[in-house]
Amino acid sequence: MSRNESASASNFIAQIIEDDLQAGRHTEVVTRFPPEPNGYLHVGHAKSICVNFGLAEQFGGRCNLRFDDTNPTKEEQEYVDAIKADVQWLGFQWDGEVRYASDYFDQFYAWAQELIRAGKAYVCDLSAEEASEYRGWATQPGKPSPYRERPVEENLDLLERMKNGEFDEGSRVLRAKIDMASPNMNLRDPILYRIRKQRHHQTGDKWCIYPSYDFAHGQEDAIEGVTHSICTLEFADHRPLYDWFIENLSVPAKPKQYEFGRLNLNYTVTSKRKLKQLVDDKAVDGWDDPRMPTISGMRRRGFTPQAIRNFCNGLPVAKSDGVVDIAQLEFAIRDDLDKSAPRAMCVLDPIKVVITNLEAGVVENMTAPAHPKMDLGERTLPFTRELYIDRADFSEDTSLSRKKFKRLVLGDYVRLRSAYVIKAEEVVRDEAGAIQEIRASLVPGTVGENPPECIKPRGVIHWVSASHGKRATVRIYDRLFAHPAPDKGEANFMQHLNPGSLTVLDNCWVEPGLAEAAPEAGFQFEREGYFVADRYDHSGEHPVFNKTIGLRDTWANK
Ligand code: ATP
Ligand code: MG
Repeated sequence: MSRNESASASNFIAQIIEDDLQAGRHTEVVTRFPPEPNGYLHVGHAKSICVNFGLAEQFGGRCNLRFDDTNPTKEEQEYVDAIKADVQWLGFQWDGEVRYASDYFDQFYAWAQELIRAGKAYVCDLSAEEASEYRGWATQPGKPSPYRERPVEENLDLLERMKNGEFDEGSRVLRAKIDMASPNMNLRDPILYRIRKQRHHQTGDKWCIYPSYDFAHGQEDAIEGVTHSICTLEFADHRPLYDWFIENLSVPAKPKQYEFGRLNLNYTVTSKRKLKQLVDDKAVDGWDDPRMPTISGMRRRGFTPQAIRNFCNGLPVAKSDGVVDIAQLEFAIRDDLDKSAPRAMCVLDPIKVVITNLEAGVVENMTAPAHPKMDLGERTLPFTRELYIDRADFSEDTSLSRKKFKRLVLGDYVRLRSAYVIKAEEVVRDEAGAIQEIRASLVPGTVGENPPECIKPRGVIHWVSASHGKRATVRIYDRLFAHPAPDKGEANFMQHLNPGSLTVLDNCWVEPGLAEAAPEAGFQFEREGYFVADRYDHSGEHPVFNKTIGLRDTWANK
């Protein structure tokens, strides 16, 4: 294993694997990440990816990427492509080629015939409503379908004709013959095949019947020789059914399933169906909108793969579901970006400062380290007569205490980061009385040097040259939902959308070097937070940055 960052060494699944290896039950570990390509991956999937790929790495094994594509009605090639890109972006590589459940459709069909021949499956003509009535409910045993004792030959013939498209959708299904009185509803003659006259993104028009997820999932693992099938808790009730298939079919291997708790985050929905609704209803600008908890959304927001992995690996692999505070994810992001992001200056809400004792046309190049601790080189900051500072960094109120307002005040001094100490002399107003510019003077000899004793700058603020800086668009994000549990209460989750989740500022000014920033390059804008050059919209002519996260957790105090 090249990356020794997985905290999973101590989790209960790792323990099981270790025991299996020691006892000689397995000589090699094979896991898989099995998404259904019916949407983009979200932060919960990131956890599953870290667990599956992480365990394989930890034990020198292999992890497959397999699309569980048994339902053609909701699946698309776009999702397949996005999922592959997301897994790789997170820093993982699957073993060999990508696999598809649909690669095994012929085998599933043969297994269905095998069950029929053994008297363990039958074609059932009950309508959906009838079948559900026959199934009974948790406390009430079901009753056998009138088609349960169909002869083998008739079943084989009907299944063949279902496959050939001779019957209408919904008119028949293939069911396993297990136990209509089982307390586990999953064992009450579950459906193995449905008629669906749908084109499939991998197999085209070849099939008119599709296996159920339950009939496919465990056998896919068996075909691939998966040793430890890891999934989330909602599948625990399905395990007896998977085991039944494995016991009753001539499968090449016998995988075992282990379940762990889903990752849920507060202020977030993690269900592809709900995320799709946000996209379809245009509540966001697509699956990779930076406000989305999708992997591609987090990427566009400027979260790093390392930070997401740190977050996932720092969480327990638990035997129960829980809700994780989103502040924990945000902490992981800040922690990683603080270490890695180059520093830069950006003025979000500009007000002009004219340095009266510097002639127009004069450019003094200041230098500043790109990072305070790491050697990321230096940046050049042209200092000119006209500058921008942030409106919030200036006040005319001379009674403001030095402790409270460590910024520029009329008649007082402040240091411009990596440049001169300046003094605000006067303000110039427009006809409406709004401040148009601040006229200030620089204190000579104060670049990298303390001013004379008598001059006490209130603090340090950031700035950008008005003539050499670049105008930029900056998108500021807030949480997509204003409610800590948007999909848990009575109201529809869409009602909890935070109306202020996106603010676009299009008159921001960035230091000139940022025009050269590559798309997806992340920065700490000093005193403002972490920002990333937009993956798609950023260019040298028109810089566009997305706010990744603030420097501190401000939400906690709201
Ligand atoms: P969703 O409800 O969002 O559609 P899903 O479980 O149907 O999720 P799949 O594509 O079937 O999505 O999931 C692929 C794998 O990711 C499965 O093994 C599943 O258990 C796991 N997974 C999905 N959501 C989470 C989550 N929130 N936390 C941990 N693992 C998850
Ligand atoms: Mg699913």
